[in-house]
Amino acid sequence: MKWFAETTDYKDSTPNGVYLLDDGKSKMYAFKAKGTGAIKVFKNPIRIDLRGRKFAVNPVQFKTELTEPEPEGRVFTVTGSKGDQYTVNEVRGSWSCTCSGFRFRGECKHIKELS
Ligand SMILES: [Zn+2]
Repeated sequence: MKWFAETTDYKDSTPNGVYLLDDGKSKMYAFKAKGTGAIKVFKNPIRIDLRGRKFAVNPVQFKTELTEPEPEGRVFTVTGSKGDQYTVNEVRGSWSCTCSGFRFRGECKHIKELS
């Protein structure tokens, strides 16, 4: 779980906020609008769609009362061919991976190796 600054270039000059996301950037736990001090913590994490949106790790990691949620189901850590580590999660037969291949195609070799 990290704070990410959105860097999407919205043509209508929608201001980008700063978001507390899980490492796979699939769920949003809290939001901080640019220029305001208030952090809004969501009661239930919100699923986000990354298509067309860009995020970079925010230089400032704000403190919140939130703790890393316990993952459901089975969790595997795999090392990719370039040495990056990914988290593969299986919940009731439904697989997910934090790599970009899974994010774009909905499948990846890390899941194939484990399933
Ligand atoms: Zn993967």
